[in-house]
Amino acid sequence: MLIEKYDLEVFTPPCEPGAERYAARARLTVDISEVLPYLNATLRGAVYLPEAHALTWKKGGHNIAFHAYEIATSNVEDREGAEKELKGLIDLVNRTWERRAEITPDTRTRQRPTPMALYKLLPKTNCKQCGEPTCYSFALKLAAAQKELNDCPPLSEPQYAEQRQALEEIVIEAPSIG
Ligand code: SF4
Repeated sequence: MLIEKYDLEVFTPPCEPGAERYAARARLTVDISEVLPYLNATLRGAVYLPEAHALTWKKGGHNIAFHAYEIATSNVEDREGAEKELKGLIDLVNRTWERRAEITPDTRTRQRPTPMALYKLLPKTNCKQCGEPTCYSFALKLAAAQKELNDCPPLSEPQYAEQRQALEEIVIEAPSIG
């Protein structure tokens, strides 16, 4: 296990005094820089900055940052949720490190796909089967990692096979962190 001990801190961000959202930070006793290229290879929409030993990621509306000796998350609705989120992220780092022999590390700095880039590859029929009113609102949630490709049933139909493949190349499905 890479991370065995950490200090957990849950707080209200100073830029948002009185805000009813929380941030949490785990201060680590080990350097997790070496796991960042493996996370970069597996996390959808992650942005890796090798020189800074940092990787940022958005998931479910949370802004998450992995640094050499720290993992942080923001925009969590309560303290309990912030602690749970951070523990899930620590498990994710540990699981990724344990699986590293199966993963090809990626040291590139990728741009997050824009909602418009994703929208262009969707069926654009606004059929609402994904629970969204339009394909564009689905693209917004896909870009924010709040939806997955499988949430759009028409993408499994043969006429959208090429679009699906193109989407899969720019959208890596997010692993569970809970
Ligand atoms: S299910 Fe797919 S095609 Fe239908 S509205 Fe949602 S994104 Fe568009």
